[in-house]
Amino acid sequence: MAQSIPAKSPGAEIICHDPATGEEIGRAPLVMPEEVARAVGRARAAQPAWAALGFGERGRVVMDARNLILKELEEIAFLISMETGKPVAEAISLELTPVLDLMQFFARKTAKLLGPRRISVGQYWTMGRTSYEIYKPIGVIGIISPWNFPLATPLGEVVMALMAGNTAVLKPSELTPLTGLKIKEVLARAGLPDGVLEVVTGDGSTGAALVGAGVDKIMFTGSVATGRRVAEAAAKYLIPVVLELGGKDPMVVLDDAHISNAARGAVWGAFANCGQSCSSVERCYVHESIAEQFIAEVVKETKRLHQAAGTEKDTDIGSMSSERQLRIVERHVNQAIDHGAVALTGGERLRDMAGPFFPPTVMTGVNHEMDVMREETFGPVLPIMTFKNDNEAVRLANDSQFGLTASVWTRNIARGQELARQIDAGTVMVNEVLYTHGIAQTPWGGMKQSGLGRTHGRAGLLELVRSQHIHVNRVSFLPDLWWFNYTEDAGQLFRGFARRFASGSILQSIPLLPQMIRRWRAPRD
Ligand code: NAD
Repeated sequence: MAQSIPAKSPGAEIICHDPATGEEIGRAPLVMPEEVARAVGRARAAQPAWAALGFGERGRVVMDARNLILKELEEIAFLISMETGKPVAEAISLELTPVLDLMQFFARKTAKLLGPRRISVGQYWTMGRTSYEIYKPIGVIGIISPWNFPLATPLGEVVMALMAGNTAVLKPSELTPLTGLKIKEVLARAGLPDGVLEVVTGDGSTGAALVGAGVDKIMFTGSVATGRRVAEAAAKYLIPVVLELGGKDPMVVLDDAHISNAARGAVWGAFANCGQSCSSVERCYVHESIAEQFIAEVVKETKRLHQAAGTEKDTDIGSMSSERQLRIVERHVNQAIDHGAVALTGGERLRDMAGPFFPPTVMTGVNHEMDVMREETFGPVLPIMTFKNDNEAVRLANDSQFGLTASVWTRNIARGQELARQIDAGTVMVNEVLYTHGIAQTPWGGMKQSGLGRTHGRAGLLELVRSQHIHVNRVSFLPDLWWFNYTEDAGQLFRGFARRFASGSILQSIPLLPQMIRRWRAPRD
């Protein structure tokens, strides 16, 4: 067991353990629903003053927090490793580096990304009309996060919400509350005013309480099942949600791919973070003509990996983050083997290790009837199938309820992009895997069951604001031609508008001018 969650009562605590060793590493409060509501109240009270600070001052606080994180990089990476079981090196490469980049990006660029936008109003411009759109903060954002990237995911969401002028209440995963509390501590030390970020540690009931505590929007990252529950609850309170959910991401290796590099990409994409990434390679399809060589390379690369506690030096793969997740992996692998699949590496848990260690497992002989090819495994398993042609590869890649990311591997970049466009996923990479969540500038989010809405980039910021359209008529002395009274002449002009003005062409509209002038000049008695 990674974390012990006691029954809910005032003063109760989550006891946090390192999953690899079972050692207690700290405690966090199990926040009660009444306290969640109070936290939302504090965030609501703090929001107007925070929004009034403007982008520059908000960015300064984020950059100061960034400097503190940078100073304490090793200590924070160690904390993440102890809470999740992942290698310290990976905490730095897959969490700290991307989130430090995200912080500087949104601290510096949000003002521009959310600046007023001029909107072309077509021919209404000839009548002295202009339009623009401005973006106002929504208010209080509820952020609910999973355990697999306990720093990068919640901190990224917090920074975007805050930079957009909102305040936020964060509910980190019950498996990683200490990293969640670290986020608050660092921002507070950087000078974030009280109430601008509240962190409520607890389990699913704390998350459910947050949805109903009067927040204005929920940014949820987690499983499809919980995402659905959150969306149902949010519908009751009529608040919008962004859902970043699970994946079963396919990797398609075409016959002209660079085989050894694709094999290394597959191994990293499937086994980084012990396979516990929403965008892990969970299904691999390789062209039959290169399958033998590709699979041999994948197996060779996999056998090179060193698995040990994440806090040890040179660890490539740590323990899984929880016994519960390991049991899902075991179920998928065992079911596949029972139905004829073969594990070329791994295949069963490491019984000589105390924690939930599952070795990197490469499988062949799999098919789309098996859970390992249909359900999110979220563990270090790489099932490989072959295909005969591009159409079959696309069909297999799209044969899934999920659509988070996908990848196509080929030396022919045009062919890769053509196939990418045919795959239904929020992000499709050509000759790349897994890592684009780390690019703060690019939109992140899924199709199908992988979620609703976007995070990161301008698309992500737009989820965190209310857009307001301002429309100005600079010719304040002229009545509009479509106002009362609907005389016979007016009726003629309206018909002209329908036929000519609505064509979108100024040339077509010019013949209407004399009628327009007549109507403007018509005496009113
Ligand atoms: P989970 O759905 O079990 O939990 C996510 C969060 O929701 C936790 O903080 C949990 O306490 C909270 N929660 C549980 N019940 C709730 C309820 N009824 N109301 C409100 N909150 C509730 O997911 P997990 O096991 O922590 O994370 C793994 C999942 O997250 C995987 O499916 C993975 O693919 C997904 N994920 C998606 C992305 C993405 O960007 N699409 C990123 C990371 C993880």
